[in-house]
Amino acid sequence: MTEMSRIAVVGASLAGLRAVEFIRRAKFEGELVLIGDEEHLPYDRPPLSKEVLRGEWASERLSLRRKSYDDLNVDLVLGRRAVSLDTETREVGLEGGDAVPFDGLLIATGGQVRELPNQPRIAGIHTLRTLDDSLAIRAALAAKPRVAVIGAGFIGAEVAASARQLGLEVTMIEALETPLEQTLGPRIGAVLREVHERRGVRVHCGRRVRGFGGSDRVESVLLDDGTKVDCDLVVVGIGVSPSVSWLEGSGVDLEDGVRCDATLAASVPGIVAAGDVASWYNPLFEERMRVEHWTNAVEQARHVVSSLLATPGEAKPFESVPMFWSDQFDIKIQGVGRPKPTDELVLAGGTPESEKFIALYGRAGRLVGAVAFNRPPKLIQLRMLIGKRGGLDEALKIAES
Ligand SMILES: Cc1cc2nc3c(=O)[nH]c(=O)nc-3n(C[C@H](O)[C@H](O)[C@H](O)COP(=O)(O)OP(=O)(O)OC[C@H]3O[C@@H](n4cnc5c(N)ncnc54)[C@H](O)[C@@H]3O)c2cc1C
Repeated sequence: MTEMSRIAVVGASLAGLRAVEFIRRAKFEGELVLIGDEEHLPYDRPPLSKEVLRGEWASERLSLRRKSYDDLNVDLVLGRRAVSLDTETREVGLEGGDAVPFDGLLIATGGQVRELPNQPRIAGIHTLRTLDDSLAIRAALAAKPRVAVIGAGFIGAEVAASARQLGLEVTMIEALETPLEQTLGPRIGAVLREVHERRGVRVHCGRRVRGFGGSDRVESVLLDDGTKVDCDLVVVGIGVSPSVSWLEGSGVDLEDGVRCDATLAASVPGIVAAGDVASWYNPLFEERMRVEHWTNAVEQARHVVSSLLATPGEAKPFESVPMFWSDQFDIKIQGVGRPKPTDELVLAGGTPESEKFIALYGRAGRLVGAVAFNRPPKLIQLRMLIGKRGGLDEALKIAES
């Protein structure tokens, strides 16, 4: 193990907390500090667009740690934003003026929601990333508003599904011709659209937002083809960007997040990154990627701790098959790998019409991705096959078995 007496972790959420737990499990006995800008103890985000929004779960259920924090012997600095990093003196600067010294630094600041250009600051327009965002939307849903969701990515589609499950009138607006076209391709995007339309969501695809009606409170969304979507509540879900502004000028290389090597090490020695904020070279797919999914944050947290504590030159690459899930209505969607719209697409193990099937994505005969609708067990096998650089033929047998 490398010599370090103080490790700072910035970002007190999934990747940050799990990293702290793995650091202690690795028998690191030095000082450990976890810095987060939210007031809450670390909590889980996936239910924010599902159970919390529908009023089924109280926020206490989201805690990411059931046991006491005392066992971790960690200095929890919550409600404080890191605003700067000095890589010479090795200190994280906090809002308000304090500085936290470190030998090793783990960056886990995740992502922050994007807003539309000219998004007005009027009542009724929300974004969703935090518990407070989710509770505010949930409170607004109680008034039975007409809901417009802008963006049909996973978060937008989950919000639309949750609102519809509450019996509300919901319209979903997407700039692409089909939802998730750039990741899953137009065929699977069309299936997602149909899932929503069958359950009463109005969907406008290939349409951009031109503006909003209403002066103090939102009354409508205006689309580029002249359509006016009357609504009382808008949720903008157009993606996130990595939270790295506090690192600008620090000497840590940034490129779509913290630019890491294959071991998750940043460009400055002793500094690593994990979770939604980390862009790294994944040798399995021979490409640089940044993944915004729960499983990746946990797996990277585990790996990055071994990279941080390794003696120089001994850290191992993080070769991973990304994995996600999304719950929309009664459909459990799960995906593995790195599908691209240009991949060969084979449907197996059911049909889109039955809403139970698996989409396999192949590149030069190799399986590179799979997305299952209501077929959970197969995905674990397919994930392993992708990890072994297995072929599309073998995948087809698994999917059809
Ligand atoms: C509504 C919602 C639903 C989701 N559903 C799913 C799902 O169904 N399946 C799935 O696979 N994934 C889902 N995800 C994604 C998953 O939750 C994320 O991948 C995961 O939270 C990433 O963890 P992270 O720790 O890297 O980043 P984050 O969870 O974003 O945590 C980063 C933390 O750092 C803090 N921070 C940022 N900047 C600073 C700073 N300068 N100083 C101090 N603190 C800072 C942030 O406030 C935040 O608390 C969902 C995400 C959301 C928002």
